[in-house]
Amino acid sequence: MKEINWQDYSLETQAIRAGVRRSHEDEHSLPIFATSSYVFGSAEEAWLRFTGQQPGNIYSRFTNPTVNAFQERLALMEKGERCLAFSSGMAAIMAVGMGLLKAGDHVLCSRGVFGNTVMLFQNYFSKFGVTTDFVDLVDPTAWESAIKPNTRFLFLETPSNPLMEVADITRLAEIAHSHNSLLIVDNCFCTPALQRPLELGADIVVHSATKFIDGQGRCVGGAVVANEEIIEKYIYPYLRTGGATMSPFNAWVFTSGLETLGVRMKAHCDSALALSLWLEQQPGVAKVNYPGLPNHPQHELAKRQQSHFGGVVSFELTGGKDHAWKVIDATEMLSITANLGDVKTTITHPATTTHGRLTPEARATAGIKDGLVRVSVGLENIEDIKKDLARGLHL
Ligand SMILES: *Cc1c(COP(=O)(O)O)cnc(C)c1O
Repeated sequence: MKEINWQDYSLETQAIRAGVRRSHEDEHSLPIFATSSYVFGSAEEAWLRFTGQQPGNIYSRFTNPTVNAFQERLALMEKGERCLAFSSGMAAIMAVGMGLLKAGDHVLCSRGVFGNTVMLFQNYFSKFGVTTDFVDLVDPTAWESAIKPNTRFLFLETPSNPLMEVADITRLAEIAHSHNSLLIVDNCFCTPALQRPLELGADIVVHSATKFIDGQGRCVGGAVVANEEIIEKYIYPYLRTGGATMSPFNAWVFTSGLETLGVRMKAHCDSALALSLWLEQQPGVAKVNYPGLPNHPQHELAKRQQSHFGGVVSFELTGGKDHAWKVIDATEMLSITANLGDVKTTITHPATTTHGRLTPEARATAGIKDGLVRVSVGLENIEDIKKDLARGLHL
């Protein structure tokens, strides 16, 4: 097999072909290397591998060819130098914290990030002397004034869940760097098919591969992408020691997920935009949150920063929680589940599920009202999705 420099190829091609090395069996599809360890040719070779003098596989907690294929492919697509895969999105975020933070450090995080990310910073890293402040995602001056001399990194998701607010990655990277701090972006909602934070100035991208990268709701996994120095110095030693490794089977599912990511994301985005425009016209809908709508407060920014607007839409119903539950329960096809990024459309009531553990005050500050409904728009026929939502909206 020829050695190809995949950096010279476009993202769509990288997504399908990069990262895979054919074995002596000449297989066409990526094999699952279901092996925990590897055999060395001699005692000397074992020594060379273990001391890092010879590249190659050692033990599948930190070296596995199927996992490597996923890592290489995602690194190229994110325009990063190197990627490491983890057992879940949370394990990837945990790795970034464990690798980079020490007692006395401070973290600045956007309000309304994934619930478990809040828990991780607030309940766990706090036990080891790391403090975290939460700020308004879309207000760069709030970030700048909350930054401290000991702020190790800024952490955010954009677009945010479930309100679909958009942060200015370039601006926040400048703020982070001028204070000797790093910017970390959870790129789960956009994926590299729509947005590449490292190109915009971010230092680290984290992923929950569980969502759009898998795309069919089958496996749980995560990843960290950054430059060689960050990965080698801070993330790889933690993966090797901490052990939250991605399994070869999951890596195989995610690697094939990447092959269709571009076309899936485009279809998700087209349907999400069509659904948003339709929802705006429906009775009882007070507000639709989607960056693709011209009235979205960061519409122009989203247009600059993303190649399309994403597959998730949220909308507010005038009748509060009862109204939201009625619309959700009136659907017959949509899946009532908190997962997202699936070919199947999912519908969620954030106030009582994903954001149910927040206090009512914290929910109010985060702007998550009782009438809010979130839809991760799948790839079923858009008219069928509208029809299913219309059941409750037109009661
Ligand atoms: C789901 C999710 C995570 C956590 O990922 P898991 O794979 O479930 O551990 C992190 N960030 C965002 C934005 C998510 O949606």
